[in-house]
Amino acid sequence: MKFGGTSMAGIERIRSVAARVKREVDAGNQVAVVVSAMAGETDRLVGFCREASSLYDPREYDVVVAAGEQITSGLLAIALQAAGVPARSWLGWQLPIQTDAAHAKARIGEIAVDALAASMAAGEVAVIPGFQGLAEDGRVTTLGRGGSDTSAVAVAAAIKADRCDIYTDVDGVYTTDPRIVPRARKLNKVTYEEMLELASVGAKVLQTRSVGLAMKEQVRVQVLSSFTGPDAPMADTLPGTMIVGEEEAGQQENGDVERQLITGIAHDKNEAKITLTSVPDQPGAVSAIFEPLAAANINVDMIIQNIAHNHGSTDVTFTVPSADLARSLEALNQARESIGFAELVHDTRVAKVSVVGVGMRSHAGVASTMFTTLGKRGINIQAISTSEIKVSVLIHEDETELAVRMLHTAYGLDAADAAA
Ligand code: ADP
Ligand code: ASP
Ligand code: MG
Repeated sequence: MKFGGTSMAGIERIRSVAARVKREVDAGNQVAVVVSAMAGETDRLVGFCREASSLYDPREYDVVVAAGEQITSGLLAIALQAAGVPARSWLGWQLPIQTDAAHAKARIGEIAVDALAASMAAGEVAVIPGFQGLAEDGRVTTLGRGGSDTSAVAVAAAIKADRCDIYTDVDGVYTTDPRIVPRARKLNKVTYEEMLELASVGAKVLQTRSVGLAMKEQVRVQVLSSFTGPDAPMADTLPGTMIVGEEEAGQQENGDVERQLITGIAHDKNEAKITLTSVPDQPGAVSAIFEPLAAANINVDMIIQNIAHNHGSTDVTFTVPSADLARSLEALNQARESIGFAELVHDTRVAKVSVVGVGMRSHAGVASTMFTTLGKRGINIQAISTSEIKVSVLIHEDETELAVRMLHTAYGLDAADAAA
């Protein structure tokens, strides 16, 4: 069972989480619980780091932000004990949850489960702080924002759990963020592949890595709500959304939304656009730009290179995570001589909107529907990228909600019974 930030926000909520865990224990289940920091806490801690220095050392950032989960794991263990359920917390370094050394976005390697398994076998609920791990050199790492989902899937795989239930503040995965589009529809099943793509383009209901890991390790994942009363259906009745293999998703009744061309729409406001003007139009020019970014461990997303001007130079535009903007600009400025650009321009007021669906593989016209829908509304497209099952566009941040709503309707995803 994994509980997210809103589910852990305050002692009252932690008590209700404890009650939900107790219900599973009373039903005869052995339970490991992974918890997030209280809602807003990680943002607060990240804010402190930024305030201390915009070019903070990621190793020390990890020391700071890993603290939020340490607090909630101890508190949940206390709340469980108070409810008469034997419980013990296990911090990332205690198990340990081994990761690589990519601080602030570390990848989980191995999880030592011997002590954990023994404790669980002895009847204790194991409470594990999400988001944190331990690098080989003994330093604390964190897994990137939303990383508790990945901790949960990794623990589930390591202890060979029957299922990994991700409890959050919505009752499943929807065709788009239900907080933006009230007409969004809940999906009973989503394939790993589609969920992976949706998450990677901004559907933060699950962290992207958690889905990739679940797919690789074949972990059964359910997304469900922690905001339900004591007589809500048990998790075993699968009241949420199941993330499943394509085979299982295929065995659905006709007319299910999973059979539709588009499964969902996602948006991401956490990207920043960078443009380098008058870059020499010659072999190696693009590599001179992206090599220093790769060296700084920065992921570049959308890329456009404009047609060369008459004088043999061109503009290159791309996006990076907003959180990496300062470091990107720094790396590019340092490489200014080898790249040879005239100006370095950036814009954080952008958003990426994406439509995702495996049906796209066999159908033409998905992209053109997107461009036409946005064009009719006067929404300007600044960049485009595609994959086999996804089309993304970069637009002005202020037009995000409008774009998502228009597209949700255009692809026929609106719930039939919802008021227009
Ligand atoms: P937690 O703190 O439990 O990890 P998150 O805030 O990370 O919760 O993720 C849950 C949120 O994801 C929901 O409140 C919802 O606004 C958002 N969300 C975005 N896209 C979707 C989607 N397609 N389906 C459901 N929720 C979504
Ligand atoms: N607390 C961390 C974050 O906000 C990890 C998580 O909640 O999944 O990103
Ligand atoms: Mg989350």
